[in-house]
Amino acid sequence: MRIAVLAGGVGGARFLRGLREAFPAAEVSVIGNTADDITLYGLRVCPDLDTVMYTLGGGVHEDQGWGRADETFAVQEELAAYAVQPQWFRLGDRDIATHVVRTQMLDAGYPLSAVTEALCARWKPGVRLLPMSDERVETHVVVDDPDAEGGRRAVHFQEYWVRMHAQPSAYAIVAVGAEQSRPAPGVVEALTSADVVLLPPSNPVVSIGTILAVPGIAAALREAAAPVVGVSPIVAGAPVRGYADKVLAAIGVESSAAAVAVHYGAREHGGLLDGWLVDTRDDAQVAAVRDAGITCRAVPLLMTDVATAAALARDAVDLASGLRR
Ligand code: GDP
Ligand code: CA
Repeated sequence: MRIAVLAGGVGGARFLRGLREAFPAAEVSVIGNTADDITLYGLRVCPDLDTVMYTLGGGVHEDQGWGRADETFAVQEELAAYAVQPQWFRLGDRDIATHVVRTQMLDAGYPLSAVTEALCARWKPGVRLLPMSDERVETHVVVDDPDAEGGRRAVHFQEYWVRMHAQPSAYAIVAVGAEQSRPAPGVVEALTSADVVLLPPSNPVVSIGTILAVPGIAAALREAAAPVVGVSPIVAGAPVRGYADKVLAAIGVESSAAAVAVHYGAREHGGLLDGWLVDTRDDAQVAAVRDAGITCRAVPLLMTDVATAAALARDAVDLASGLRR
């Protein structure tokens, strides 16, 4: 079975770990979000790709969900002693090695897809990890700034998420560079040749939304022969973790499992989804999703460990199997 998955960071990675556990023989291609990427202290950092790589490769900080286990911060402390900015984004010593290797290879002219493959040679994630694009796409968030001309300014996604904890209202979310970008090698093929396409419970706006903003990816999804099944990141009206509610509000989508499904739309009506999983607590929303033309089931959506993530992955593939097009 060939499975293609669009993934952000923690929600995507945890789902993928369950998927690999549930279907060890499946050939899984992961199309990773790179719009969170940032250059810090001259180092190119790809948080979502690394979260997937570390989680599947056994190196992740389990409680945090991202970054390395057994991490130390000596380099960051030394940089702080030099008053190097920014200090709101913490890079651990082990993690920095990954960014050094990546930056060296990028500077030598390798595309991000080749660099990611090289990094994965160490981590052996058991999936084919592809960045959504080799070109730079960067999410910017428009927020109030009384000092700025017009009273607003755009900040990098990481500044909004990490420094501001998504507290200011977001007026717009822009994937800068997306229009000029192309899917990385292998991305479109992974979608068109898949037996099943899955959207894990990744952020619909700044993870899945930015992947879909790369011209050609949404079209490949719409045209894929395989059924497309998604999992809601919203449970009982709120994100399981993080601030998805803030960025959904910015694009005018209510924070509910059904509203996110309707936002993606039914494939039979030109949208992206054939099937959608909501949490058992959102059973009352199943009818609204079905009314939109999307097959829907309510199952437990909380991934508290690998076993619950594997059960969720089984439910997603199960729903897809009943939807063979
Ligand atoms: P990020 O890049 O680290 O923010 O990760 P993703 O975009 O992949 O996933 C973030 C989303 O995952 C958030 O909106 C969470 O609500 C959702 N999420 C995290 N853990 C779980 C879980 O156990 N179950 C479900 N259904 N969603 C989850
Ligand atoms: Ca992310």
